[in-house]
Order: sequence, then structure tokens, then C-alpha cells
Amino acid sequence: MTETTYQADVVIFGGGVAGLWLLARLRAAGYQAILLESQALGAGQTRYAQGIIHGGTKYALTGNVSAASEAIAAMPGLWRDCMAGRGEVDLRQVRLMSPHQYLWSTASITSRMAGFFASKMMKSRVGTLDPQNYPTVFRDRGFRGQVYQLEEPVLDTASLIHALAEPQRDAICRVAADAPIATQGDRFVIPLPDNVELHARRLVLTAGRGNAALLHMLGHGAPAMQTRPLKMVMVRGALPEGVYAHCLGASTNPRVTITTHYDAQGKVVWYLGGELSESGVKRSDEEQIAAARAELTALLPWIDFARCQFATLDIDRAEPLVADGRRPDDAYVHSAGGVLTTWPTKLAFAPRLAAQVLQMLQTENIVPGAEAGALPACAFPGYALLPWQEDERWS
Ligand SMILES: Cc1cc2nc3c(=O)[nH]c(=O)nc-3n(C[C@H](O)[C@H](O)[C@H](O)COP(=O)(O)OP(=O)(O)OC[C@H]3O[C@@H](n4cnc5c(N)ncnc54)[C@H](O)[C@@H]3O)c2cc1C
Repeated sequence: MTETTYQADVVIFGGGVAGLWLLARLRAAGYQAILLESQALGAGQTRYAQGIIHGGTKYALTGNVSAASEAIAAMPGLWRDCMAGRGEVDLRQVRLMSPHQYLWSTASITSRMAGFFASKMMKSRVGTLDPQNYPTVFRDRGFRGQVYQLEEPVLDTASLIHALAEPQRDAICRVAADAPIATQGDRFVIPLPDNVELHARRLVLTAGRGNAALLHMLGHGAPAMQTRPLKMVMVRGALPEGVYAHCLGASTNPRVTITTHYDAQGKVVWYLGGELSESGVKRSDEEQIAAARAELTALLPWIDFARCQFATLDIDRAEPLVADGRRPDDAYVHSAGGVLTTWPTKLAFAPRLAAQVLQMLQTENIVPGAEAGALPACAFPGYALLPWQEDERWS
């Protein structure tokens, strides 16, 4: 049977936030770009994200202000522009869960933190709230700490993936995770179903932890990847809504980060990350649930968690290897042999990753050039459910 060949400038592997943001940017710049996804859009780390659009305040807390800090500080504004329909991608359909997130301190560390938050570096990023403006969860007489407001929005990741993917449906295909990738001269060749062959001048890997297998298949020994495991906790019950907050602890890592979501029946779910989820990887599911109950009861004793349902979620973050296994603090792009390997390291940095890829393509003289034409029909991968909306996770 004759094969149909489709010439692309760029083929992207992986339909999480990084690949989808990049696809939109490349196509808007005139590139013939196709995105291939092996499961469902958002199925990797993206659907597990808490949806916080960081502006780097967490790094400032650690005193780790790097050269990239200024650009990272611009991320919340860039995302807000996109949500208002005047940015580089159109995110007007994305559900804003909260326009800002909060930091709260317990009584024991409030005085120590107050001086720091009044410092010049932090003043522009963090505002102290008067008690009458506290989110409902902290308006209890039992609350002895202080609440700070960060101008960093929190988004619903399912609506984000949808908003990014829908306008690009004609350029998104499902592919087997182990689909072979061959080379013909300076082109990559990827077979699709129905005797369609996809040819590309550049491959971009945005497959999260799947990047390692793709690099292996391509025979590339670098870059190396690290995974950092998390044991997240979900709590469902009669809980206050609108909680998007980090609890400051003795270390610079928040003791716990709480975001509010809704299950398939619309019931309130708190999703717990932060130090609880990092130290939790050493615990069994039962131990982690007991630790979460104890932590919540210690921090918010006026809330009754006895009748709440708890569940754990194990998930790895995939990132470039950093010395000592530390967390990288910016998007990462590495180019070799026509393959650009990327990890955003944060959902919030997807725009930085896309900008870096566009810049690198220009440096390598890959300008839009492939002949325009419709990709022969291929299967759309569909959308992944958010974990708290999957009923089986609660049983
Ligand atoms: C628990 C948790 C909470 C987080 N919270 C936040 C937060 O609040 N704010 C923030 O900024 N960041 C957060 N992050 C980080 C953020 O989620 C990730 O940095 C980001 O989602 C990574 O996106 P990605 O597109 O690179 O990868 P992924 O979302 O992992 O997507 C990779 C995609 O590639 C596909 N794939 C894999 N192999 C192949 C293959 N061979 N061919 C084709 N497709 C393939 C997968 O199916 C998947 O859809 C969090 C991460 C975790 C784990």
C-alpha cells in the first residue's frame, strides 16, 4: 500500500502542559508542528499539579535568588494576560480557582517571619492581610498565626489542558509509546497508523518521565533525568472551600500546601502537598494518611476531620538531573542531534520552556518551511481525568 508522507518542521512527543503550550506557540509562529501523545492529554504530571502559578516567591524564601528569578517573577502576570485573552496563548476558557494563594504561619514562627516579610525583597511579592480579610478557613478564634497573600493565581489544570489543546486538535495524534523513530538523512521518520509517515526536521521531547525511554530509543545518552517522588494526600468531606495556602514551617519548604478541588459529584476535596508529601514517600499509605490527619489536626484544630475520607497518590516529578538531587529552579531545554529534550520543572514555567525552544530553533536556523497541508486523519488521544475525579481512587 502506498504511504502518505506528512512533512513537519517539528514533532513534539508528549501532551502535558509543556508540549501543548509549545504546540500553540510553534503553530502561531508558522511552523508545521504535530504533537504525539501515547495516553491521554494531561495524563502525566500535569493532572497531578496543584495548579499554582509560582512567581518564585518560594525560591526567595530559601534565599535562592538566581539569574532566572526576574523572569520567573513575571510568570503570574504572563499567565494572567493569557487568561484575559491578551497573551501569547488564549486561556480565556481556563477556570481560575483563586486569583492569589496564601502563606500562613503558626503562632510559634509568626514573629520570626514578620521581619522577613517586611524586607525589601519580599514586600513587592507578599502582602500581610488584616484578619477581617482572611480566607474563611482562618477566621476562627482558635487561629493564632498570620496570613500573607501572594499575587500568584491558582488554575484548574483540566480546563487548562482543554483550552490549550482544543484549538490545535487537527495537529494532535495518539501514538504508541514505543512507536519506532527512524532517521533518513537529516529527517526523523515516525510511522503513524493507516500507512502515514510523519517526517520532521526536529523532535521536541516534552514527555515528562517518558523522555528517558525516548532518549534511549533514539540512542542518546544525554541529558540525564532525575525523578523526585511525592506521596500526595486527598481529603474529601465537609471542608471549607477556597483554601489555596502553604503553611510555613521551621524549614523553607512549606509544612503542607493545601489546594481545593471538587470530585466527580462536586464534593470538596483538599489536595495536600509540601513537606508532608516529600517526607511521606517513606511511609505506607496508612502511615501517610495518619500523618496527614495528625498534621491537619495540629494546624487547623477547629476543623473536624474525623468524618473526612482520605486517600494517597504516588507520583514522580521528572526533571533534568541536578547535582545532589536538588530541585532545578527553571525550565530546561537541551539540544543535540536534532532532538530538543525539555522539562519545564513547574507547570508555571511552560511559557518559558516554549520561548526557549523557539529561540533554540532560530539559533539552529530551523525556520517555518514545511509545506502546509492537513495531516491525514489520526486518532485524538482524549483528555485525562483529574485524580480526585476518579471514583476508584477513593475506595
Ligand atoms: C503532585 C505535583 C504537584 C505539582 N504542583 C505544581 C504546581 O502547583 N505548580 C506548578 O507550577 N507545577 C507543579 N508541579 C509540576 C508540574 O506538574 C510539572 O512540571 C508539569 O506538569 C510537567 O509537564 P510536562 O508537560 O513536561 O509533563 P507531563 O505532564 O508529565 O506530560 C508528559 C506527557 O507525555 C506523555 N508521554 C510519555 N511518553 C510518551 C511517548 N513515548 N510518546 C508520546 N507521549 C508520551 C505522557 O502520557 C504525558 O501526557 C507539580 C507536580 C506534581 C507531581
